[in-house]
Amino acid sequence: MDATSYAGGCLCGSVRYQARGPATNLCFCHCRSCQRATGAPMVPWATFAAHSFAIVRGALMQYRSSPRVMRGFCAACGSSLTYRRDDRSDEVDVTLSSLDAPAALVPEVHIWVQDKSPWLTIADGRPQFAQSRTEQALPGTAAP
Ligand SMILES: [Zn+2]
Ligand SMILES: [Zn+2]
Repeated sequence: MDATSYAGGCLCGSVRYQARGPATNLCFCHCRSCQRATGAPMVPWATFAAHSFAIVRGALMQYRSSPRVMRGFCAACGSSLTYRRDDRSDEVDVTLSSLDAPAALVPEVHIWVQDKSPWLTIADGRPQFAQSRTEQALPGTAAP
């Protein structure tokens, strides 16, 4: 398995993190919660084991964006950095665009496409899911 180290942080540099692979569940999320949290139409994410992720500078501000979800961000500049679910406490999702090398990990699928902004056209051939990846891919999109 891939034990590569990934470093990243927020826009202002107050919060820095390190994560160790393997990174799993590489996806673009189009859900309304991600849209609101970031101001962007979709967010690329990767999942790491919680014990392989550490804040190495500053402190992560946490916001409960759904009953079982905590989103982590920089209190100074607002960069979205993490997503954690209470029922997946052994995992942490990290925004790929906050990595120092954002091209290092490549999203594989689109999730929560039912919330996608209508002016955004997905034409990259990646499988699409109406909600989470645990369901069947949408017709006409490749199988995962
Ligand atoms: Zn910051
Ligand atoms: Zn989302």
